Amino acid sequence: MKALSLTGLEIAQSIKKGEIAEDEVFSAFNQNIKDKNKKLNSFVDVYDQPLKSCATSSLKGVPIAVKDNICIKGKKITCASKILSNHIAVYDATVITKLKEAGLNIAGTANMDEFAFGSSTETSCYGVVRNPWNKDKVAGGSSGGSAASVGCRQVPLALGSDTGGSIRQPASLCGVVGFKPTYGRVSRYGLIAFGSSLDQIGPFSTNIIDCAHLLNVICGYDSKDSTSAKVETDDFTKALATIKKGTKVGIAKEYFAKGLNSEVKNAVEGVISVLKKKGACIVEISLPHTEYAVATYYIIASSEASANLQRFDGVRYGLREKRPNLIDMYSDTRKEGFGAEAKRRIFLGAHSLSSGYYDAYFLRALKVRRLIKEDFDKVFNEVDIILTPTSPTAAFNIGEKSEDPISMYLSDVYTISANLAGLPAVSLPCGFTKDNLPIGVQFIAKAFDESSLVSASFTYQQETNFHKRIPNV
Ligand code: GLN
Repeated sequence: MKALSLTGLEIAQSIKKGEIAEDEVFSAFNQNIKDKNKKLNSFVDVYDQPLKSCATSSLKGVPIAVKDNICIKGKKITCASKILSNHIAVYDATVITKLKEAGLNIAGTANMDEFAFGSSTETSCYGVVRNPWNKDKVAGGSSGGSAASVGCRQVPLALGSDTGGSIRQPASLCGVVGFKPTYGRVSRYGLIAFGSSLDQIGPFSTNIIDCAHLLNVICGYDSKDSTSAKVETDDFTKALATIKKGTKVGIAKEYFAKGLNSEVKNAVEGVISVLKKKGACIVEISLPHTEYAVATYYIIASSEASANLQRFDGVRYGLREKRPNLIDMYSDTRKEGFGAEAKRRIFLGAHSLSSGYYDAYFLRALKVRRLIKEDFDKVFNEVDIILTPTSPTAAFNIGEKSEDPISMYLSDVYTISANLAGLPAVSLPCGFTKDNLPIGVQFIAKAFDESSLVSASFTYQQETNFHKRIPNV
């Protein structure tokens, strides 16, 4: 069917004009998802019936995948963890209400790292997600299922969540657009919490135009989320225009230091040339506390995760290991239900928060987080956006980093700071390695300035075709 090769916006427009029927679009994608899922394992659940509404928007009728950590009323939600196996969501997350109100059709739930802990989607209880460009490679993580499903055009759009890079890094590895909005822009109500001060829901798409339309749908203040920002929601489609001449683009030397693969470096330098040609002014900047970002993040994120995961005790949700006494029931449920990475995070977090270590670890990390944020505040007095690689390397082999958590944690070295500082950031495809693996570039803007990211991305995609290449799955 023709719809399978269209963008999200084109699908909605064809439905509106009566060229294709919404139901036919849904069933074509449903079949397409099932066919490709055998090879990629990107979906946890595939819905055979759309969750229909009579609402409308510029994306009415477009199928969308939703990461398995966002609640959809009446549907299974597991965070790819055995501890939540067969748990059914009892309410809709605010973003799901918004998707329904905009008439998008949820096509199913996307596979992910267990509780969103990871950079490769290898820790899912449903097994690893494969990269659509090379099935021996990881899809990135933790939203690997969302990224792979858009990458291979199983669906034109997906939602993911990003705590330290989980939208942008897999987007980069799968050759799609992944957008993390400003902290507070999109409601977290109904997103199963990992690191509550860092988590943010955001879109995946093949191009920035679809992304801007989806941002319009999901952004906005929500009284059900106490950290939701009371700011006016911009119409992001208005930012789908070429950047103004003289737009200042910052290049931070800390993001081009050792550890950056040379093919990635060359591709990202290509982006700098394109933006220069379109009138951008390149400014060298420094973000001196970058080197502490990974350590700071893993203390804060794990601490928050250890607290958030306390609720999974065998009483309220999912798995229960029946034992004659309560303590054994708690501990055996958690022992059986959580995977190795989840347990590692709980240990790390509980340790950093424990008395005697709190000041040395958690409190210290909060102070460094402040310094990282101040680096950005300073730089954004000088520049409009910052341009960096998204990930130091293209997709790595399945199994390559699973035995070495530290090297896995380093895959997020360029994405984590935006979460610590609460800033919006986007990853776009910007090239391919000689082995035909996608490479991503990241743009970061000041808080609530998503529009500058949309313009810079639009400018770049008007000049290049990397986002139009489709893998053979
Ligand atoms: N890879 C990072 C981690 O493991 C980020 C995950 C995320 O953004 N959810 O914590």
